[in-house]
Amino acid sequence: MIGIVVVSHSRPLAHAAVDLATQMLHGERVRIEIAAGLAEEPSGDDKALLGTDALAVADAIAAADTGEGVLVLMDLGSAILSAELALDLMPTAPEVKLCAAPLVEGLVAASVAAAGGATLTEAANEAENALLGKRAQLGLDAGTEPSAPADQHAADSARASFTVDNEHGLHARPASRIVAALRGLDCEVRLRNLANGAGPAAGRSLSRIAALGALTGHTIEATATGPDAEVALNRLVELAQRRFDEKIADAPTSSPRDTSTEPGLTERSAAGTTTASTAPLPASPGIGIGPAWQLELTEIALPDQPSGPPGAERHLLNGALARTKNRLRAHIGAAEDARLHQQPSPEPEVFQAHLLLLEDEELVADAHRRIDNGASAATAWASSLDTAADELEALSDPYLRARAADLRAVRDQVLAVLLGHDTEVVSRPGILLATDLTPAQASGLDPSIVTGIVLAHGSPTSHAAIITRAKGIPSVHAAGEEILRVPAGVIIALDGGTGELAVDPETDVLAKFKTRASEQRRQRLLAESTAGQVATMRDGLTVHVAANIGHVAEAAHAVRAGADLAGLVRTEFLFLGREHAPSVDEQEQVYREIAQSFEGRRIVLRTLDVGGDKPLPYLSQPQEHNPFLGLRGIRFALAFPQLLRDQLQAIVRVAADHPVSVMFPMVTVVDEVRAARALLADIAPPGIDIEVGIMVEVPAVATKAAVFAQLVDFFSIGTNDLAQYTLATERGNESVADLADPLDPGVLHLIDHVCRGAGDTRVAVCGEVAADPTAIPLLLGLGVTELSVTPPAVPLVKAAVRELDLRECRAAAARALSCESAAAVRG
Ligand code: PEP
Ligand code: MG
Repeated sequence: MIGIVVVSHSRPLAHAAVDLATQMLHGERVRIEIAAGLAEEPSGDDKALLGTDALAVADAIAAADTGEGVLVLMDLGSAILSAELALDLMPTAPEVKLCAAPLVEGLVAASVAAAGGATLTEAANEAENALLGKRAQLGLDAGTEPSAPADQHAADSARASFTVDNEHGLHARPASRIVAALRGLDCEVRLRNLANGAGPAAGRSLSRIAALGALTGHTIEATATGPDAEVALNRLVELAQRRFDEKIADAPTSSPRDTSTEPGLTERSAAGTTTASTAPLPASPGIGIGPAWQLELTEIALPDQPSGPPGAERHLLNGALARTKNRLRAHIGAAEDARLHQQPSPEPEVFQAHLLLLEDEELVADAHRRIDNGASAATAWASSLDTAADELEALSDPYLRARAADLRAVRDQVLAVLLGHDTEVVSRPGILLATDLTPAQASGLDPSIVTGIVLAHGSPTSHAAIITRAKGIPSVHAAGEEILRVPAGVIIALDGGTGELAVDPETDVLAKFKTRASEQRRQRLLAESTAGQVATMRDGLTVHVAANIGHVAEAAHAVRAGADLAGLVRTEFLFLGREHAPSVDEQEQVYREIAQSFEGRRIVLRTLDVGGDKPLPYLSQPQEHNPFLGLRGIRFALAFPQLLRDQLQAIVRVAADHPVSVMFPMVTVVDEVRAARALLADIAPPGIDIEVGIMVEVPAVATKAAVFAQLVDFFSIGTNDLAQYTLATERGNESVADLADPLDPGVLHLIDHVCRGAGDTRVAVCGEVAADPTAIPLLLGLGVTELSVTPPAVPLVKAAVRELDLRECRAAAARALSCESAAAVRG
């Protein structure tokens, strides 16, 4: 793909032009470099002095060089001189074309052409023809290509027609969708506007399509030649039927509408259920019913004072805006791709609407003014957006009122970046609707007040999801941003076990949720009544059902729920969110408290599992590009051995009086276990009884289980990470959450390998899948004998185990191993 360079006197102008062009690419990436403005202002502000710099242009050309040529677009006067000089300055310039096209229109046309695989010359032609559309629209010429008879390709071409049903016709965005739909197809598509005779226009050319002057109601005839002709025409007809996926936010001007017709909003289905237009993911089981509420700004601690001078605060805000925009662009790209591949995904239009709001110069200028008057970046941004949202909310038009929710969603996204995501949530009765939650926010929620959670983003294996499960708050994730538009007070019903979600349900739908809730309550009560007894399978094997503990308070809850032991104590809760590491004494006290709560039952203390997505603020760790593949778990602990020594010291002290196991996380090689054991041996007095185990989270360890079995007393399989590493699916990334199923046969084969290699060494599973009713028989059938689950799940897991027969489980496991996919396993 060719590269593009934008040479402009003004840096903001260049950035804005690139943002506009990028929006037309629908997720496709084109290398576009900017050489604009002169040196930075001393304030560090985003503004630069107006002008162009030949050296900067030369650097930009070098950076844009993909090996397929570089197209240079310039604004005026000295921009052209600088570009010419840059070529003289470059000892070995790549193939470069200086293009006479107007900057903005040319850049949009060239970018779309580049994304479609155009050569340097084709992209330059596209750019230079970029004014055709505008000319046609203004009636300055016919807007047609040199006339080609309509039936030129009739002999070997397929033909279809569609009506443009968009309020504003085929303006740039719908036109860019046509180009995107044809991307990658092997055929020529030409379009004619039968209403005004304009065309034919090449279907891959944004400027030519715009030049058709197609208004609402016009019929477009499409002819296609080549092997993919039929596919292309089908795509175009479908696209037109979907009104080019244009939502209100895409339209060039907004006009009042009834919100009930807006596709981005939740819709009432025929069955009377109101569901989000994306398929939400089940994240924490249980039925939640209650009025919707959203995070309020008053719950976000905005800094009273700016942390620096206005220049620095503006810089902070601009940085947060840029990061939020990048994040939205990534979401748009992923959603567009998913749509092209007909996979479920959030609505890209909602992200696009938010992107447009972030690019609203008025809003940003207003926040800058507030900063100049002494406000912090966060307070200024929040006030500007709230003022704008309040104004909208005061209007009578329902469509415009609904835009206020967009403004508040955008406000929170930027604030989350500015304030480092650690804004506290104050619990309120009902269903919390939020973009996403951090682990800190999730752990602050009170389960006796919050009856459910619906997140627009988020994934079921994220740490926030684990915490909501531990709290027993039903939740669904990845419901799409449209959920954030549901006004406060509207009744929501959700099933966190299936992902079903109903907004403002009809009476009969609500009744179904209520019936399901009372059935689940009945089953839970039944399970709780026997939870104190061991869980023995029908043919006699006793399975230990343990609890995962992420906080001291959870220990007592787990014991009340019937846990046989604490199979995983995530000790990092003691280390995170503070300025210094806890002392040995403090650690001892906390571990002792947990051990005492367990009243003589074994507790498995996992040593610090930080690094990755959980950095420790008081230790200087290198910036990592892929933190999940970096200094995490035992790697981190061995890099900071004093931290590990102190922790082992505290564990050993508790082990003198209680049955305690120590477990090392994220192990990869035997030397790590040897090194950690050596530290332990230095600290532990002779004769102390302390079991040593490792987490199996890295696929390599699963395949080397027989070797590790010589070194440890037990294995605990962390399926959250094992699935992440086996399936190459980052656990917090909702875009790949549907791939990240721990019941994928690839993961099951690794669990099988561990059980076979373990010999007499005990094998537990402490990942979230251990509480999944579908997974339990398979895990037991593969040879797992301990399931460690979130405390509220203990009674139900015990009840499920008692229903099972080991021989049947073995047969089911053998069948699962030969399945082709996770879906087949679940089936
Ligand atoms: C796991 O990876 O499955 C696990 C239990 O550890 P954590 O979720 O704490 O990373
Ligand atoms: Mg893990």
